[in-house]
Amino acid sequence: MTTAHPTHWCVSCGKHYTRQQVRQTLPAEHTPDGEVELLICPHCGSDQVEELQEIGHDE
Ligand SMILES: [Zn+2]
Repeated sequence: MTTAHPTHWCVSCGKHYTRQQVRQTLPAEHTPDGEVELLICPHCGSDQVEELQEIGHDE
C-alpha cells in the first residue's frame, strides 16, 4: 500500500494534507542533519500544522 492519505491537518484552516504537502526544510547549521523541518500549510501558509491522531484502535 503506497496510497498517500492525509496524516496532517492545518489548525488554521482545517484542511487535511499528506506529509509531503506540508513538509518543508530549511538549512540549519546547529542541527545534526544540517536542516530543520517545518510543517507549513500550502493553502494558508500557517505553521499551525498538527499530526493527525490515529483513531480507531480502542478495544
Ligand atoms: Zn491552512
